[in-house]
Amino acid sequence: MHIFDVIVIGGGASGFFTALNLAEQRPNLRIAILERGKEVLAKVKISGGGRCNVTHACFVPNVLTKFYPRGERELRGPFSTFCTGDVMQWFDDRGVALKIEDDGRVFPESDNSQTIIDCFLEEAQQANIKISTQTIVQNIVKADDVWQISTSKDAYSCKHLVMATGSNTKIWDLCTSFGHSIVAPVPSLFTFNTKDDRLQNLMGVSAPMVSLKVKNSTLKANGPLLITHWGLSGPAILRLSAWGARELFDKSYQFELVVNWTNDFVFDEVLDELMENKTESPKKTIAKYPQYNLTHRLWQQLVKAADISETLTWADVTKKQLVKLAEQLTQCTFAINGKSTFKEEFVTAGGIGLKEINFKTMESKLIENLYFTGEVLNIDAITGGFNFQNAWTTGFLAAQSITNKA
Ligand SMILES: Cc1cc2nc3c(=O)[nH]c(=O)nc-3n(C[C@H](O)[C@H](O)[C@H](O)COP(=O)(O)OP(=O)(O)OC[C@H]3O[C@@H](n4cnc5c(N)ncnc54)[C@H](O)[C@@H]3O)c2cc1C
Repeated sequence: MHIFDVIVIGGGASGFFTALNLAEQRPNLRIAILERGKEVLAKVKISGGGRCNVTHACFVPNVLTKFYPRGERELRGPFSTFCTGDVMQWFDDRGVALKIEDDGRVFPESDNSQTIIDCFLEEAQQANIKISTQTIVQNIVKADDVWQISTSKDAYSCKHLVMATGSNTKIWDLCTSFGHSIVAPVPSLFTFNTKDDRLQNLMGVSAPMVSLKVKNSTLKANGPLLITHWGLSGPAILRLSAWGARELFDKSYQFELVVNWTNDFVFDEVLDELMENKTESPKKTIAKYPQYNLTHRLWQQLVKAADISETLTWADVTKKQLVKLAEQLTQCTFAINGKSTFKEEFVTAGGIGLKEINFKTMESKLIENLYFTGEVLNIDAITGGFNFQNAWTTGFLAAQSITNKA
């Protein structure tokens, strides 16, 4: 039996951040990380396309929480204690230079996730944290105020137990045996599949700002959109996939998506503007001059879909054709048929019910000395560094509260 003061189950982002902050605040504690994989920090390694998007340059807690479809209300307090600026300072203090990209995403200056891993492993070694890999936690019981943990290798015991196991169904099942409830997991952050003639040969084309609506639903999003060889991607789609994670799952990812390529103009406004071209630019060929900041190729496809020939001028186009073009521009409907993985980042919506957690301490409200951090909770965010921020913040809080108790 290996005896520790604190055991962290899960050697991912939140597990390491908990253990490292705890070791810093209470150097004498005996801390272990138990990890089922061959390597720790496997997701950090592949995160952000191998660059690790550590956080987002959004420094106001109440603004930051808006990026979390699940966890928005609960994270307000935690972000007021440990926010994005704090984690940037944390890395800076340990010699990891970070940079903020134009869209607000924060990466290591090295553009290499290994920089983050090296930092964590070095810190853990200096702090004497025991890391046991290939150690699958199989059962957990609490007897006389002591946690007893059986793994695929050895038995462990500790006073404080941190669950940092990410989206692991077996651990969620185990947690239900302690009385915790699990919100059923569904994928979040994915792209939409569609086969549509209008998108043919447009792979790689993007629109700078579109608005999206799911038909027969209140789901909406806007932002840039990217056309891929299997369908639609880009920030607007990912945002919709995050907010609609559960609803789109319930629809088996079969639904109609309405794209407004002009973003905020309504049909009547667009039709009026198109009609004005008849007097302002009568001799110009419609297909040759894109409008609403659309690329040439996309504009041409929409013009074609409105039954306007390649050579037609504004003078010769009929009102009926312009009505069709205004429809293509503002109510362009695609039949979505399935989803694809967004390879740069994906998360699971669902996990430990948030009502059962004290968000000042990350301790279970049901069982003393049991803590939850990171993706094991029913918290997830849109892409951009926000998911790691949840891991850092909840890890920091758990470390702080164990420090105060141990
Ligand atoms: C491809 C990809 C790219 C991503 N990129 C980004 C990004 O750039 N920015 C961002 O903010 N987010 C990103 N994310 C999301 C982010 O990686 C997660 O939100 C984050 O890793 C969650 O951290 P965690 O510690 O809670 O869980 P995890 O990182 O999943 O760690 C949990 C650990 O627990 C271990 N474990 C599970 N069960 C057991 C058990 N029974 N016994 C022992 N160990 C166990 C697992 O093996 C794992 O190592 C990405 C996700 C993916 C999949």
